[in-house]
Amino acid sequence: MMPASKMTRPPLFLTWVSGSIIHKTKQHALKVTTTEAELFAIRCGISYAISVPGTHTINVVTDSIHAAMRIFDYSRHPYQYHTIPILKDIHSFVSHHPDCHIIFWDCPSKAEWPPHLRADTDSKQQVPSFYHFPCKTSWDFCRKEECDSLVNLWKMYFQATGWKGRQFLDLTDDKGAIIEPAYTKGGAWLKNFQNSPSLCARATRMITNYAPTGEYRQRFFPNKPRNCPCDKTTFETREHIIFNCPLYDKSWRLIDNTLKFHLTFLELNPRAFCFQDNIS
Ligand SMILES: [Zn+2]
Repeated sequence: MMPASKMTRPPLFLTWVSGSIIHKTKQHALKVTTTEAELFAIRCGISYAISVPGTHTINVVTDSIHAAMRIFDYSRHPYQYHTIPILKDIHSFVSHHPDCHIIFWDCPSKAEWPPHLRADTDSKQQVPSFYHFPCKTSWDFCRKEECDSLVNLWKMYFQATGWKGRQFLDLTDDKGAIIEPAYTKGGAWLKNFQNSPSLCARATRMITNYAPTGEYRQRFFPNKPRNCPCDKTTFETREHIIFNCPLYDKSWRLIDNTLKFHLTFLELNPRAFCFQDNIS
């Protein structure tokens, strides 16, 4: 049994047989991603386990099952440096005897399964000094650094009002944090639009304030009406539409500054921020 501790630095694997640790390896690494560290631990663990005479079953227990799944990702990716040797070992092992097999177990750290907890604690106990090690950086870590740098640049530009536009509506996530640009998991805004082009278009108009409102017409079409049809005297601003206008359904009244609230408003009011021609 082999809990593979993720611990970025250093990766650690323990080899267990019948409840006892028979082998322990800890490697020190600099400037690698957690996925690389995890795969390296699994690679070392499997390599050692198959060398033990009489081994027929290997249980790989990891708190990073997403990293382990990379082993069976046959597309081109930078982790192949580790996954190809792992696959070679697995192939050699399972070809040796029909009873030989490997099982991967997902064991989240929060489960605090004692053998895994022991590996996790052990990997964190010793903080090595890297002063005497040559400094090498993995390809994936370089890419991660480049992406982080780019996203930080986006965020810096985004904070400068001139870049995102003075009319941009800053909204928050469910935890109250201002939503900022991101590139993972579908980005910060688009993933919330439920794959609906109509909702996406209206939300974009609402957030940027480029929308068919009196406020917009005053800026770009000063001869067109700028007051709201609800009483024909109130200036039709974005805020009026969202928070005050009686023409729109706000009966649920859970008003806050979250993107979630604003999208619910749009869903309940299909005419909001919609050009008349687009109303079905
Ligand atoms: Zn109104």
